Amino acid sequence: MCGIVGYIGDGNVYDILIKGLHRLEYRGYDSAGVAMVGDDGQLNVYKTMGKVSNLETFCSQKNLGARLGIAHTRWATHGEPSDTNAHPQTSQDGNIAIVHNGTIENYKVLKDALIQHGCKFASETDTEVLVQLIEYIRVTNKCSLLTAVREALKQVVGAYAIAVIEKSNPDTIIAARQSSPLAIGIGDNEMFLASDATPFVEYTKECVYLKDGEVAVIRRGEPLKITDLDNKDARIDVKTLELSISELEKGGYPHFMLKEIFQQPETLRDCIRGRVVEGGRKININGVNDNKEVFLNAKRIVIVACGTSWHAGLLGKYLIQDMCKIPVEVEYASEFRYSNPVLDERDVVIAISQSGETADTLAAVKIARDMGAFVFGISNAVGSSIPRETFSGCYIHVGPEIGVASTKAFTGQVMVLTLLALAIAQLKGTLTDAEIENLGKKILEIPSAVEKVLKLADKVEHLSLIYTYARNFLYLGRGYSYPVALEGALKLKEISYIHAEGYPAAEMKHGPIALIDAEMPSVIIAPKDHLYEKIVSNVQQVKARGGNILAIVTEGDQQICRLADHVLEVPDMPECLTPIITSIPLQLLSYYIAINKGKNVDMPRNLAKSVTVE
Ligand code: GLU
Repeated sequence: MCGIVGYIGDGNVYDILIKGLHRLEYRGYDSAGVAMVGDDGQLNVYKTMGKVSNLETFCSQKNLGARLGIAHTRWATHGEPSDTNAHPQTSQDGNIAIVHNGTIENYKVLKDALIQHGCKFASETDTEVLVQLIEYIRVTNKCSLLTAVREALKQVVGAYAIAVIEKSNPDTIIAARQSSPLAIGIGDNEMFLASDATPFVEYTKECVYLKDGEVAVIRRGEPLKITDLDNKDARIDVKTLELSISELEKGGYPHFMLKEIFQQPETLRDCIRGRVVEGGRKININGVNDNKEVFLNAKRIVIVACGTSWHAGLLGKYLIQDMCKIPVEVEYASEFRYSNPVLDERDVVIAISQSGETADTLAAVKIARDMGAFVFGISNAVGSSIPRETFSGCYIHVGPEIGVASTKAFTGQVMVLTLLALAIAQLKGTLTDAEIENLGKKILEIPSAVEKVLKLADKVEHLSLIYTYARNFLYLGRGYSYPVALEGALKLKEISYIHAEGYPAAEMKHGPIALIDAEMPSVIIAPKDHLYEKIVSNVQQVKARGGNILAIVTEGDQQICRLADHVLEVPDMPECLTPIITSIPLQLLSYYIAINKGKNVDMPRNLAKSVTVE
């Protein structure tokens, strides 16, 4: 949440910052702003409510010449979205400016103390407290900005990625991080900083990910310097980026979400590549191969995640229990971290996060590690915090996901969890060689099966016109289709703002059935599996109460096709592989309904991708 960009160099500062903000806009779009030390020697701060395009309009008549600058696109946590609460925030003397991603938990105590010392606050943000504190220390102690930043950060409790600049210094940006991501790009006589590498990938492939507790001094004409809060030098680990610009563009699609839905055959191929080998006979997950004893002796697996990743995690539970006979619990990371979890060294904790930066999941990882559990990470963003903080793990390799509503990352996570379960089963011998080979072969067919499902897009678009009227939806499924129902409902809520509930189909009769009438459609996920006859009864129960039914069924289905008002037929797959196939028509349905309602699917209100705040 919140995107930060910074630039120092001979390029056009304002243009680079704005372009960078556009790339990071998926992280928040409540307001946007820039602060630059101008060629007029002033600290020019321009900020406004709304999206980055509003900021561009706002800046059109301003002095934009500068030697360095920082910029921000906000997802508000403290104080409503407004011009005043927008970042950059400045000290009251107008001497320094800051951009911040994160939350300062003790901001109230610090603010009260600063008010006692005569500070006047303009905004309601926690961020302003930090910038005022830095300036207060700088002035009172007559020290450098760098020392003041370090001293201020020692007093702060919370999460931050910050960049700070000073009016009198057109040659230095100071940056620091604690629990929120920050990447520094090293170019030729220029340096960049950003919440992720996307704003600078077209200028340089050399990148340094700042670690918790580190402070970076980015100074014109000098090599990057990184220290800890006590001024001890830190190791600078330069990584080479493998990202390409085309991955960050819409590639002819009207929205990133649609592009990402249609990319799934390719992203799933990338995800599987090298992991299902010998024609399906062998599953190769390095994180399992390298830690055989851990998985052989695991007495329990606990999966921690948030949002869509939690739904993938729930599927992970079904997969691992079925294939590996290891008990699995799935926890919301935000609950887990405060629930006094009971863990020991025979527990394996699997943390799932697309961005690898989800604050609650990261906190859960640290707790699990401290308690001695073996922690395995599943994420998409190479080099992000979760892969760094876990003992082992697996990337989903689906490329940057920009649409706020997750699609290809979900199917990538489910695929990795399937492969993980198979790899553990292979190790433990809980599946026979023939069973593994059968599933391995089917997994290799998934990308083409997904291609086939995507051919339903026109039909889904047409059906979406019929269903756009509804104000409430039920999504029902059983077994492996239950988490798919939860994910389908979440997709609809996220981008079309229609209330939707995902429910285990059999639980419906314990409450939600009371809601069913002609106005409330049910989307029922009912592929041919061992619960098929059971879900046919659930379909009948909805029908008997006058409910309208859209069913996702296996090709050639007879019974549900007769009962449901509309059906979408998907290719046959073994039961444990159906979720990837059945979730795709639901992604398309939510997309087209949101489009029919005129919503901005890539930037749904109140949401942001990569939830790096608590
Ligand atoms: N806490 C800051 C604010 O509300 C930054 C929020 C964030 O990083 O999401 O402005």
